[in-house]
Amino acid sequence: MRVLVLGAGFGGLELSTRLSEQLGDDVEVVLIDRADGFVFGFSKLDVMFGRTTGEAVQHSYRDLLKPGVTFVQSTIRSIDPEARRVETDAGSFDGDVLVVALGADLHPDATPGLLEAGHEFYTVPGAFSGREVLERFDGGQVVVGVTSTPFKCPPAPSETALLVHDLLTRRGLRDRSQISLVMPLGRPIPPSPEASAALLEAFAERGIDWHPERIVRSLDPGRRVAVLADGDEMPFDLFLGVPVHRAPQVVQDSGLCVDGWIPVDELTLETAYADVYAVGDVTSIGTPKAGVYAERQAAVVAERIIARHRETTASSTYDGQGTCYLEFGNDRVARVEVTFRNGQAPVGEFQAPSDRLVEDKADFGSSRVRRWFGREWSNY
Ligand SMILES: Cc1cc2nc3c(=O)[nH]c(=O)nc-3n(C[C@H](O)[C@H](O)[C@H](O)COP(=O)(O)OP(=O)(O)OC[C@H]3O[C@@H](n4cnc5c(N)ncnc54)[C@H](O)[C@@H]3O)c2cc1C
Repeated sequence: MRVLVLGAGFGGLELSTRLSEQLGDDVEVVLIDRADGFVFGFSKLDVMFGRTTGEAVQHSYRDLLKPGVTFVQSTIRSIDPEARRVETDAGSFDGDVLVVALGADLHPDATPGLLEAGHEFYTVPGAFSGREVLERFDGGQVVVGVTSTPFKCPPAPSETALLVHDLLTRRGLRDRSQISLVMPLGRPIPPSPEASAALLEAFAERGIDWHPERIVRSLDPGRRVAVLADGDEMPFDLFLGVPVHRAPQVVQDSGLCVDGWIPVDELTLETAYADVYAVGDVTSIGTPKAGVYAERQAAVVAERIIARHRETTASSTYDGQGTCYLEFGNDRVARVEVTFRNGQAPVGEFQAPSDRLVEDKADFGSSRVRRWFGREWSNY
């Protein structure tokens, strides 16, 4: 059996690792990604806020040596879900099973003025160059703003506002700066009232202005104002933006999408096509666009593929659970666990910021790198 895994991000890496761990050379896994390495989302903030270097957070796919898995670095140009075949710059590949884990593409150019007058911090180059932007900043009005929904890692803009506060305080610029956070959500983390309350308290303590249920539509480079969807304007000296997210064009062209994203069975991650699955940010499954959800979805798909290979019945189904670590400033980390169950209101459990959770977050990263890349790594 050959399994084609499109995308070596959180979902694709977890899936390939599980297949290799359990089936080894019995199954041929072809893992395709255009990038030469993986970067955790949280590492983007670590680099932007000067805790580490861009080089230290790159996990090269060269280190991905797993029985049964062949990594192909190439851009996927077309996907035929009916035939389970893809065309890439390195030729065409087909599989008995196809798993789409291509994530969400980011489009800073879709927000007028963002590239000219603001700075997006969600792509790898955007986050890495954000470090110099912050180093050069001399104080003034900082706006952290979201430009569309859905967006990855809903807590990340709140974390960014708190980390900007710390950085400006350290540099002696906080007294002559204002920090505003513009979010389309009613609360910082809607499924967890406790986490939201703790974040709102942290914003209030630090004098960070919170603007809920609002979204930035454009920036006016001449007047240096952010224009919100309701027409209000916010002046800025530094705009840190979350850009527009879309399913990659190759996915949109494949016929797999409905309303921009791939619909999947909420329990099995199957698409409308036989033996074609999709996991993670590229889907419209209803859990947040975050690595921990992609990873858990991949585990379910792995089990189904393993059962198919062994000609048994797969018992596990997706449970909608995910645990996120939140940078709370002052070098502390909090933890929120949120479960989205079919048709029921999400349930969230919150652990307050602590030093212990800083270590838990580091373990979260290093355990993934050990399993996925077979080497030791620490994010601090
Ligand atoms: C600032 C920030 C902080 C974050 N913090 C966290 C966090 O603390 N915890 C958490 O769980 N999540 C976090 N996230 C979100 C997380 O990074 C994503 O949700 C997660 O990576 C999604 O996994 P995925 O497998 O669906 O897609 P991805 O990990 O995005 O992987 C998709 C892969 O597909 C490849 N690809 C796309 N198109 C093509 C093509 N045409 N040809 C070949 N390859 C292609 C890409 O190169 C990429 O490697 C954060 C994100 C950001 C931006």
